[in-house]
Amino acid sequence: MKGVHPQLDLAPRHITAYTLFKKRVTGHETYIDISAIQQFEKKFPTIAKLCADNGVDIQHGLIPVAPGSHFLMGGIIADDIGRTSIPNLYAVGEVACTGVHGANRLASNSLLEGIAFGQKMAHTILQTGCKQYNFTVIHKAHQQAIPSLLAKEHLQQTMMHALGIIRNPQDMQQFAKQLPPLQTLQHVEISGLGQQELELYMMHIVASLMVNAALTRKETRGAHIRSDKPNKDRLWAQRWIIFEHGQMKVRNTLYEYHQTRGNAQAIL
Ligand SMILES: Cc1cc2nc3c(=O)[nH]c(=O)nc-3n(C[C@H](O)[C@H](O)[C@H](O)COP(=O)(O)OP(=O)(O)OC[C@H]3O[C@@H](n4cnc5c(N)ncnc54)[C@H](O)[C@@H]3O)c2cc1C
Repeated sequence: MKGVHPQLDLAPRHITAYTLFKKRVTGHETYIDISAIQQFEKKFPTIAKLCADNGVDIQHGLIPVAPGSHFLMGGIIADDIGRTSIPNLYAVGEVACTGVHGANRLASNSLLEGIAFGQKMAHTILQTGCKQYNFTVIHKAHQQAIPSLLAKEHLQQTMMHALGIIRNPQDMQQFAKQLPPLQTLQHVEISGLGQQELELYMMHIVASLMVNAALTRKETRGAHIRSDKPNKDRLWAQRWIIFEHGQMKVRNTLYEYHQTRGNAQAIL
């Protein structure tokens, strides 16, 4: 990145994003320097077209860049063949939390998650067979009407602000208060919801899981940068924050015996 720290080109993603963020909050524009790349248009036609369509002249060798959400390290706990705690419900790809990334994403590991684990899952299902289950939510007693939800754009903007590049506990706590409690969200009667309402409801669940997990981890590790705890704390090494049985729990291992063996209560 020109004008920032050229030596940080291959720094971990969160360091690159943090460096851009710090420049941008002081009013500076940030760029990627492509001047050393010969025949850029030929090698990167999609980016070249995107620039042309948006009035960016790449002949100057600089393309404006800004940090963006890139990867989610958490997700539904799954093993390397995609098994989750719910029998016959598989999670593969970015939605899964397999542990291959640890606290930060390793480059191109999404290929491992999506393609290698996906193939293993497909082979397993072909070998063992997979009875079709109806995952329509079983009606439970004490189901509740959907609580009042935030508007989608507001939720997205607040997620970026409170759970984006730098996280401070005050903003996270304030955001957590704006969301319906997870326990309420868990017991919502969803059978009558339309697609958009269902999507917004699921976004609230993800937001709530993320903000509560982020508040629980009182340190900075991997891509998780807390302004009040800017360093790693060795007490948090190897710790996983897992939501199960309606609670955020801190575990020393991603997997426990029951986790992939059919305890359907273990995840939401
Ligand atoms: C800017 C950027 C750059 C990246 N660069 C790299 C890289 O260089 N190397 C690398 O390995 N990884 C990279 N990644 C990460 C990688 O692209 C993702 O991890 C990977 O594409 C995830 O694949 P997936 O199939 O699990 O999920 P997705 O690609 O997100 O696919 C999920 C699909 O489900 C569909 N869907 C969602 N909701 C519903 C619903 N309710 N009903 C039906 N369908 C639904 C979506 O439309 C989508 O098609 C990058 C990501 C980003 C954002």
